[in-house]
Amino acid sequence: LEDELRHAHKMEAIGRLAGGVAHDFNNLLTIVTGSIHLIRGLPAGDPMIGGYVDEIQAAVDRATALTRQLLAFSRKQPSRPEVLDLNEVVSELGGLLARLIGNRITVRTELAPEPVRVRADRGHLEQVLMNLAVNARDAMPDGGTLCITTGMTGPFAKLAVADTGCGMPEHVKAKIFEPFFTTKEMGKGTGLGLATVHGIVEQAGGGIEVLTAPGAGTTFHIRLPAVTAPTPPPVTTPGAAPVSVR
Ligand code: ADP
Repeated sequence: LEDELRHAHKMEAIGRLAGGVAHDFNNLLTIVTGSIHLIRGLPAGDPMIGGYVDEIQAAVDRATALTRQLLAFSRKQPSRPEVLDLNEVVSELGGLLARLIGNRITVRTELAPEPVRVRADRGHLEQVLMNLAVNARDAMPDGGTLCITTGMTGPFAKLAVADTGCGMPEHVKAKIFEPFFTTKEMGKGTGLGLATVHGIVEQAGGGIEVLTAPGAGTTFHIRLPAVTAPTPPPVTTPGAAPVSVR
């Protein structure tokens, strides 16, 4: 029943969202069409062309992020969990994240020396990283550092995403996981990014803690149940009596 309710709520949310997304999309397409029109009017090799191409790229990136979010949020298909090493997921996505985030922000990764295994859906984990990275980018308009850390604490795998951005006051922090809560200007935020992150982490049996203060940056600490590797069979030396370890 809880599942059904959550889904109904989600569908209602998606319905409300559709109009807004269509509107955002139109704005982005207007940018793309406008830039193409301007490029067409220039002689080949004109130095202005690069700037217009950048604008097209930025609009396409926004549109891609928007559809990804909407798709992830509206996904009804059950997740396909598999055993994944967070270190691998982070390093494979690193290039895309850096591109998404732009060159004014340094992306650093601090990966645990051992594999950090969790049972999760790969697409979901990528979505979590993408959403947190996009928010970090938006919080650092003048540049900064995004640091992604993996590790273990007890039975949990840890994934931390830290930025050196604007941070949040308490009244914002209290609402960030609510669907449609956004402080971004019209057309820039959907308010679905962290609602999606929260849903994914909960579904995987984990939790999220947020450390933030205005001007002091923000760190999202995510905990997921770790999958411990099967213990290798004991090494037996021929002739030696098996040693029992207490
Ligand atoms: P959106 O990014 O579309 O606004 P989110 O659910 O991803 O939606 O985020 C909700 C709000 O949480 C943002 O509008 C912003 O105010 C705040 N927020 C999220 N991440 C950060 C961050 N890293 N630094 C500062 N504020 C953040």
